[in-house]
Amino acid sequence: MDSTKVKQLDRQSYDVVIIGAGPSGAVAGAMLVNQGLSVLILEKQFFPRFSIGESLLPQCMRFLQEAGLESVLHQYAKQCGFQFKNGAAFHKKGINSAFNFTEKFTEGPGTTYQVKRDVFDKLLADEVQKKGVEIRYGHQVNQVEQLQPSVCLTVEDQKQESYQVEGRFLLDGSGFGRVLPKLLNLEQASDFPVRHSFFTHFADKIDCPEFDRDKILITVNPNFDDVWYWLIPFSDGTASIGVVGLPERFEEYARLSNDEILQQFIRQDANLNRLLSRAEPLQPTRAIKGYSADVTSLHGENFALLGNAGEFLDPVFSSGVTIAMKSASLAVPLVIKQLVGQKVDWQKEYAEPLKFGVNTFRSFVEAWYDGSFQDIVYHDMHDEAVSRMISSILAGYAWDKNNPFVEKSQRRIAVLAEVCRD
Ligand code: FAD
Repeated sequence: MDSTKVKQLDRQSYDVVIIGAGPSGAVAGAMLVNQGLSVLILEKQFFPRFSIGESLLPQCMRFLQEAGLESVLHQYAKQCGFQFKNGAAFHKKGINSAFNFTEKFTEGPGTTYQVKRDVFDKLLADEVQKKGVEIRYGHQVNQVEQLQPSVCLTVEDQKQESYQVEGRFLLDGSGFGRVLPKLLNLEQASDFPVRHSFFTHFADKIDCPEFDRDKILITVNPNFDDVWYWLIPFSDGTASIGVVGLPERFEEYARLSNDEILQQFIRQDANLNRLLSRAEPLQPTRAIKGYSADVTSLHGENFALLGNAGEFLDPVFSSGVTIAMKSASLAVPLVIKQLVGQKVDWQKEYAEPLKFGVNTFRSFVEAWYDGSFQDIVYHDMHDEAVSRMISSILAGYAWDKNNPFVEKSQRRIAVLAEVCRD
């Protein structure tokens, strides 16, 4: 680094520096500043900005509450078009099924919202700023100069001038930017295959009385069980719709535009086609190709990875934001412990507890794609107790060891799928 090009700003030293002002960075920032620490968030974009990940799970509300961010969400929900959400509905070849999150095994909130992330992320970030966190928008972290005795980062501001900033601890909440995994060579291939996703927002104009706007609708493609769609309604008459599948499922449409590809797939499902018959797209269809990611380690000397900067599985159960906020909630007390001079075993106290719940979601995602969880979902389940246990996981309570579908998820799903098939 050419030090002559490094501009000095007034205040360059913080207790904690966070990369990214998405849900993980915002929740961590709020929790830290609430404990009296000085916190700087470096965010390369300007908010509001588009982001995917719009269906929250009720477990998120716990973390927002912990961070002192829940009331602002309720306060502005209506104004921001956030849709009250109380469950997940499923459709496959004419068969409907639904889980109501208020009827679940684990104690805790049973409802939440579906949110446009540009508005949601800005709402949280503004609130975090009001609490005293400094957020620098248009500031991109480009380099880690050192990690000990304190962390030193090289940052480029919106005028493309570089400067250095110091923190006693660094949290990477850079999401798909994956700043530390790339800079520190922590990237590791995910167990999940590459999948493509095409999505947009519609003025949905759904007038079907049976359609429940309070639930995300997950639809399985009638031709391929491993292709599925989300339909996430908002409260202002708009909705997010997307399709997910292996690259080969989209091959024959390669010459079409993203808009046409999404339309083609919507047309393939009679129910979605009917629901969206009057829908009008509000923006060009976006595509993400290959989103699953993993790392060799979630922590190191004076740093930890939050949310998507660590591991990202798959969007099918809308677990991303919940895992992002859970990671912040687990990391913050440990950062504080370390900064007051106590020893922290980041593997035992952070990585393992976080991965415990991530692995629960992993079992469910794997079972979705191998078909066994679909056999459960589309079976007319009469066992209320089992239904409540599954509802808990779908509501995000993947860390509740009392739930038998958490502790031995793989085996339980396999056995239940057998029973459903019989
Ligand atoms: P992000 O929300 O990605 O925030 C990271 C921030 O870091 C960004 O603002 C970015 O600009 C900033 N940044 C990046 N690089 C730098 C840098 N060098 N310097 C400074 N700042 C930087 N999750 C759900 O919960 N529900 C869903 O319905 C859902 N649907 C999804 C659908 C798809 C197709 C995909 C791919 C994901 C979906 N997710 C969903 C997952 C969700 O998008 C993520 O899990 C969630 O946004 C992660 O939050 P985060 O805070 O870790 O990162």
